[in-house]
Amino acid sequence: MNRLERIKGCLLGGAVGDALGAPVEFLEWNAIRATFGAQGIRDFTPAYGRVGAVTDDTQMMLFTAEGLLRAYVRGSSRGICHVPSVIHHALLRWLMTQDYPPATHVSLNGWLVNERALWSRRAPGNTCINALKASKHFGFLAENNSKGCGAVMRVAPCAFFGNAFDYAADSGRLTHGHLTGYLAAGLFADILQRIADRQDSLEHAITESLAEHGDKPGLEETRTLLERVLFYYYEGYRPTPERIDEFGAGWIAEEALAIGVWCALTATSFEQGVISAVNHSGDSDSTGLIAGHLLGIQYGPEAIPARWLEKLELRGVIEKVAEDIERVPRDYSGYGGEFDQVIEAEYPGD
Ligand SMILES: [Mg+2]
Repeated sequence: MNRLERIKGCLLGGAVGDALGAPVEFLEWNAIRATFGAQGIRDFTPAYGRVGAVTDDTQMMLFTAEGLLRAYVRGSSRGICHVPSVIHHALLRWLMTQDYPPATHVSLNGWLVNERALWSRRAPGNTCINALKASKHFGFLAENNSKGCGAVMRVAPCAFFGNAFDYAADSGRLTHGHLTGYLAAGLFADILQRIADRQDSLEHAITESLAEHGDKPGLEETRTLLERVLFYYYEGYRPTPERIDEFGAGWIAEEALAIGVWCALTATSFEQGVISAVNHSGDSDSTGLIAGHLLGIQYGPEAIPARWLEKLELRGVIEKVAEDIERVPRDYSGYGGEFDQVIEAEYPGD
């Protein structure tokens, strides 16, 4: 599989998992079963007034990608760039689409923010909204102690740039002040990067990522849960709605990551993996998105059921972002380098 297929599979896969989970995000498993039967929700069902609607998770993931692309343009043209600050500016553009005023001046240039389909509220997380509203300048760190999953759910695009762990953790910190909240995001992006760059299996990527980062102060909670997931996997212990509920609901960072990883590790197909990731009492759209990113980056867009891709909201936007990411040289490190004039026109470096 080539790099573009991995990027597209990752971004589209995450969005598809988000859309599958959107109608049941706030439903307990008992209510999901009562509505959709013993197998749970297995297909797109209307949410937010349409079939295939994505949520704030995919919206913020796209703006994170925009920030990374703008940072590339800025770094290439000016030679130096603080990547998390440029991602912050992009996340503040997302805040504008939610109809909340930022405290700092935000440029509404570039193509992404002018996609009207993004200007829609999809149950955005309070932590992200409040932290972004309170930002006093680009790069301002969140003044809260939240470890909600709102950083993990948006950082997948970091996997295709420079040091994914640092970009994801440092940009996660803009909204989530708890170490687990942003370091779990770093670990997720690092796992994805190992799969993209080295064609690692998911299991190997997790093991290597824990070996490199697992002893960092603040990663204890995330490491403990991921080690439990690996143990379950080796024991052949598969996720069911009841077992996922026992494991945790996924509203917090380490649980969302662990549930998504468990469902992706044990998946027999892309479809089966994301279905298992959304059928539980917790944060179904975020765990669906995490499993979808992990499966899509391994198996590419071909593995995603056509009936889901056809109805996926923002599909064209997501594919364009994936193609634009692929234009950035993989050895780009955040400083200087090749200049791409096509990217420059669409991702102003501010
Ligand atoms: Mg959501």
